[in-house]
This record gives sequence, structure tokens and C-alpha cells, in this order.
Amino acid sequence: MRKKLTRAQYRRKKKMKRLLILSSMVLMFVTGVCLLAGGISNVLHGSLLGPKSKPTLKVVDGFYDSLNIEEMLLTPNEYSRPETALNKVNGVVIHYTANPGTDAEANRNYFEGLKEGKTYNNGNYIYTSSNFIIGLEGNIVQCVPLNEVAYASNGRNEDTISIEVCHPDETGKFTEKTYESLVKLTAWICSNYNLKKDEIIRHYDITGKNCPKYYVENEEEWEKFKNDVFEMIEENAK
Ligand SMILES: [Zn+2]
Repeated sequence: MRKKLTRAQYRRKKKMKRLLILSSMVLMFVTGVCLLAGGISNVLHGSLLGPKSKPTLKVVDGFYDSLNIEEMLLTPNEYSRPETALNKVNGVVIHYTANPGTDAEANRNYFEGLKEGKTYNNGNYIYTSSNFIIGLEGNIVQCVPLNEVAYASNGRNEDTISIEVCHPDETGKFTEKTYESLVKLTAWICSNYNLKKDEIIRHYDITGKNCPKYYVENEEEWEKFKNDVFEMIEENAK
């Protein structure tokens, strides 16, 4: 049998019900606002600022300018600058030019010269390029924009940024100035794309090719390089 409520009990019950409805409405509103804010933040970080735009360690403003990058972009062409979008950056790949004594601009011009379609002796077309080339004096030349794929790293072209490095002789060892620029440029890329130390890789780590020769043959030097990069990031972190 249903208990009959007094007028006071009835009022209290009704008040409780109203309170319950009100608090659920407030909860729904707050949830909605949070979802909306999250969505906006995702749009900002996802589309406008790039896929990994929240670096844990960010190098200070002006760091990029201090790299003095010379933009000598290749003419769009299917052999060295196919204008394929680089939608994600999961690593930075270090190469050496394997062309002792040649400088950044000469190597850049070689990539440019492929635009008409050049072939190896076996008749296959040559597809090759790099986002950056670092010269013998530490000068940095950019050949392919950061939002485009370069043809340097085989199966990892689609999700990495490539750096070709010039070297004076057959050992493949970089000059001091070249090394300094390489550390700085790699630090900027890692910071900007929120890459971890093990996302700095050698061409060798992808295909087993002896590239960059000096760092394939001197494993400790390769570890030292990666440590120097992260030391620089920490020193410059805000
Ligand atoms: Zn290579």
C-alpha cells in the first residue's frame, strides 16, 4: 500500500526532484563546454599547428632564425620534389652525401638537375633529394619544405624529415662547424615535432646502408651526437 504523504513531505519531495533535474542540467552543460573546448584545442593543435605541436621541451624563440637557413627550394618535379604532403613527422633521418669535398649548394643543384629525369647505368630513373643539406662551413640549405616529402630515406620518406650532411673526406667525419649546425638543426626539429631521442635515426637504421658512414662505423659517436642534441634542447628550453 502506498503511504500517503503529508503536505510538507510532498513539498520536500518535489523540491528534491527539481534540484535533481537542475543539477543534471548543470552537469550536462559543463560536459558540453568541456567537449567543445577539447574539440577547439584539437583543431588548433591538430590542423593548424601540425600533428605533434606540443613539445615537452621547446627551444626559445629566435632559435630557428639563428640557424640561418638558406631556402633554395627545388623546382617541383617528380624525381626530387614531388610535392607529396608530409602529414606526420615521427623522426629525423641523418645522411651523409657520400661525395667528399662537395658543398651544400652543389648537392642541392644535383637534386635540381634530376628534374628532367636522369637514369642510372641500368636505365632506372634516379629519385633522390633531402629536406636539408648542411655544408662544410656549417651553412644550411633547405631544398624541400617541411610539409613535403623528400626522397632520401626509402620506406620512411612519408613520416620523417631528412638531413644530408657534407663531409671533407672519405672517412665521412663532419667538420666541427658542420657538426655544430647539425646538432642545432636536429634540436630544432626534435623540439618542434616533439621527437624523442630514439626518433633521431640514421639511414642505416632503415635500410642497413652504410650511411652516414662515420656514425655507422662509430656507434659511440652516434650516441654522443644524440646526447648533444638533447643537451642543447634542455639548455634552450623555456
Ligand atoms: Zn643516406
